[in-house]
Amino acid sequence: MKRILIIGGGIAGPAAALAFAKAGIEAEVFERQPCPADETGVFFTLGSNGLDALATLDLQEAALSHGFPTPAIELRSGTGKSLGISRIGTTRADGTSSQTMRRADLYSVLRDRVITEGIPISYGKELVSVNDSLDGVKATFSDGSSAEGDLLVGCDGVHSRTRTLIDPISPPPVSAGLINYGGFTSGMDVDTEPGTFRMIFGDRAFFGYAMSPDETVWWFVNEPTTATSAASVPTRSDAELRTHLANLFRSDFGPASDLIGAAQDLSRPTLTHLLPHLPRWQRGRLVVIGDAAHAPSPSSGQGASLSIEDALVLAQCVRDLGISSVALEKFESIRRPRVERIVKAAARINSNKAATGTSRRIRDTVLPLILKVSGTRGLEKTYGHHIDWLQTITA
Ligand SMILES: Cc1cc2nc3c(=O)[nH]c(=O)nc-3n(C[C@H](O)[C@H](O)[C@H](O)COP(=O)(O)OP(=O)(O)OC[C@H]3O[C@@H](n4cnc5c(N)ncnc54)[C@H](O)[C@@H]3O)c2cc1C
Repeated sequence: MKRILIIGGGIAGPAAALAFAKAGIEAEVFERQPCPADETGVFFTLGSNGLDALATLDLQEAALSHGFPTPAIELRSGTGKSLGISRIGTTRADGTSSQTMRRADLYSVLRDRVITEGIPISYGKELVSVNDSLDGVKATFSDGSSAEGDLLVGCDGVHSRTRTLIDPISPPPVSAGLINYGGFTSGMDVDTEPGTFRMIFGDRAFFGYAMSPDETVWWFVNEPTTATSAASVPTRSDAELRTHLANLFRSDFGPASDLIGAAQDLSRPTLTHLLPHLPRWQRGRLVVIGDAAHAPSPSSGQGASLSIEDALVLAQCVRDLGISSVALEKFESIRRPRVERIVKAAARINSNKAATGTSRRIRDTVLPLILKVSGTRGLEKTYGHHIDWLQTITA
């Protein structure tokens, strides 16, 4: 019986364990954190393509019981000028569209199903090294323990250890030049309908907000930065953070300052890292998926969705081609063009968010035209993507 070692129990890891189980292949998940991360992270969008992939794992209903549908974004300049509407999903045959949800909820949905299926998850297991041979792969963890299997799947996120074990000179992730913050505010009226995200290119930073059906406003801030590592992001107390963020938007149109000031729940800052192009995704019995292979900026709204898609396609390739270089190469050749196209498009959005001075004025003039012309072009390609689980993958 083949055994897969899955490194990382975030989003891609549990999704991969479930996809392998569906293919009849045994897997075990090894997570660095000492315990489940039920409360961490803020929120993200699960695209209609991500929901479609979850449906294959029979998890769509569970996921849709959290968060709320957000099929569109209304973009505005810092002066309040409407720049246009951008759709962030297609409507699927069952009427569902992209869903904004707390990261912790999607994480719990996946993790709970892994437990129900009897797939083991071990915590406090930080991968440090591997021994990859013709007979199998041995993973060694920082606590000195080890595990043996036939394939090791690195689902260990944007700062992946597996990636450097595949290729010690693999390019490191780069800072997107944006610090992310997020929060939740209830008891405040805002001028949007549930389901429409409004996003504002402010003078100093980018602000997005949406009203959930229970009338809590979910919001986030992207602040341009020259910081290149988490250590260089300024440390602030909660009160200092509130003042700093509210000040960023004091001269802008919209409710940003008020929402930040009244927030019940405020996340700590995180520096966004991107991994635009990884030359090698696999070597021997090692392969990376999800953010470990291709981290798009959160502006793509695709990080979680692409990870779940990867999980399905990798399990299909191994199911049909066995644990072999042919299977891993096939996986990479199916996935690479799609994810790199999406990562590239998201990088363009990021540079718009960080624009200042003249480039900001050009953006505010050109963006409405781009949104008008692009319409639904590319939308179907990204969000309408469907993985046919029953399709046999051939070499
Ligand atoms: C705690 C947390 C909170 C997040 N919050 C948000 C958010 O609010 N909004 C957003 O857009 N994105 C967030 N993300 C990122 C988002 O989950 C990913 O972009 C996307 O879902 C792809 O998931 P992934 O499983 O590839 O990577 P991740 O979700 O980053 O998961 C990687 C997992 O691997 C584990 N790991 C790392 N190194 C090792 C190692 N050496 N050995 C064993 N395990 C290891 C990590 O602890 C983590 O659990 C968050 C990620 C994490 C880890």
